[in-house]
Amino acid sequence: MRGMIENADAIVIGAGIHGASLAFHLAEKGLRPLVLERGTLASGATGRSSGLVRMHYDLEPEARLAWASFAYFRDWSTRVGGECGFTRTGFLQFYPRDAADRLRANVAMQQRIGIPALLVTADDVARLAPGFRTDDFDVAAYEPESGYADPSGTTAAFLAAARERGARLVQGCAVTGIRTAGGRVAGVDTTRGAFGAPIVVDAAGAWAAEVAALAGVEVPITVWRHDTAYVRRPSALRLGHPTVIDDGNAMYFRPEGRDLTLIGLEDDAAMGGAPDEDPRPADGFVERVVDRICRRIPGMVDAGLQSTQRGQDGITPDQRPVLGAAGPEGFYLDCGFSGTGFKTGPAVGACMAELIVDGRATTVDIAPFGLDRFRSGRLLAGEHEDHGIWR
Ligand SMILES: Cc1cc2nc3c(=O)[nH]c(=O)nc-3n(C[C@H](O)[C@H](O)[C@H](O)COP(=O)(O)OP(=O)(O)OC[C@H]3O[C@@H](n4cnc5c(N)ncnc54)[C@H](O)[C@@H]3O)c2cc1C
Repeated sequence: MRGMIENADAIVIGAGIHGASLAFHLAEKGLRPLVLERGTLASGATGRSSGLVRMHYDLEPEARLAWASFAYFRDWSTRVGGECGFTRTGFLQFYPRDAADRLRANVAMQQRIGIPALLVTADDVARLAPGFRTDDFDVAAYEPESGYADPSGTTAAFLAAARERGARLVQGCAVTGIRTAGGRVAGVDTTRGAFGAPIVVDAAGAWAAEVAALAGVEVPITVWRHDTAYVRRPSALRLGHPTVIDDGNAMYFRPEGRDLTLIGLEDDAAMGGAPDEDPRPADGFVERVVDRICRRIPGMVDAGLQSTQRGQDGITPDQRPVLGAAGPEGFYLDCGFSGTGFKTGPAVGACMAELIVDGRATTVDIAPFGLDRFRSGRLLAGEHEDHGIWR
């Protein structure tokens, strides 16, 4: 095409976990995708992600995406190559005592689709996680195989494997326009010139609404900011602990290496505004973290603060991703991961590549995640919703 500096089979905007996974899966299918990244790979949500890898969701299609992704994390070196840093710690999910029926129902759904999830008692938890308070619930969900992975490493490994298969990554290249011709996408304009392709995918995380607007597509994605802290465990807790989501305390935490614990709060998010704001954590965040973690692990009162950081993701009104075609022919959305999209990255990329190349996703049915649900008012909700929208 005249005026284009390079042509590709597909252009993927954004080199976070989702752009990288999609590039890998498109390249596996024989396409030569071009990934355009305005910063450096994993410089968005992915590079700040806490990296939890678990399958506990209340919405079956999301649980299926997490389960299909788990197979990649478990067998990374043979399935993709390189390292994803998956560390098996076991995963515990706590609900408040009065939500035990919902917990049971969600675990039953997960078991039905093959996820190795169990119900355990408070006494079991005391054995699995010495030092935890266990007097505020009777049952918990336990996933012995789950844990966490390294989000930046996972993204780099996907991109390295994609490049071996013919993909190209251009960093420091911001997409500023999307070209169309006759109702089809034709390519993009960027800070480094124009690139041509018949397929353009928006995997731009917190910037996804801005990018979609370049194609004339309105996507209800706002910015969600999330603070996390690393604390150094006191010597009495050096043995480590499982990865945990603790809904009663609106918190999650996981071990990091030998003696750190990473903690995030689920009710502390700042919403809206521009995606390029100040990355410093909110006032009082550290005090809230200390208070919450000590409610679950009283011995953490002697922990020391190591560091804090803030990340951001694009969030949708039902806190579920937006996947599929939208607007001009050849334009696709792969965004809106709402603070939980690292762990589903492998399977989402596989599904999007199937949709783009074969016309239908077969790894998991992603039709429920279409953009039209917002127009029709059919927002997604778990049959036994485990918590409200993170705010
Ligand atoms: C602090 C934090 C903790 C989290 N913890 C977890 C967790 O434990 N488990 C989990 O599963 N999920 C977690 N998440 C969510 C998960 O990290 C995100 O859902 C996921 O990383 C989103 O990936 P992405 O590729 O869609 O977006 P991003 O990683 O944000 O990538 C989008 C990329 O697009 C680029 N871009 C934007 N605009 C343009 C443009 N115009 N041109 C070119 N490039 C552009 C950006 O620079 C960016 O690199 C967490 C998120 C945060 C913020």
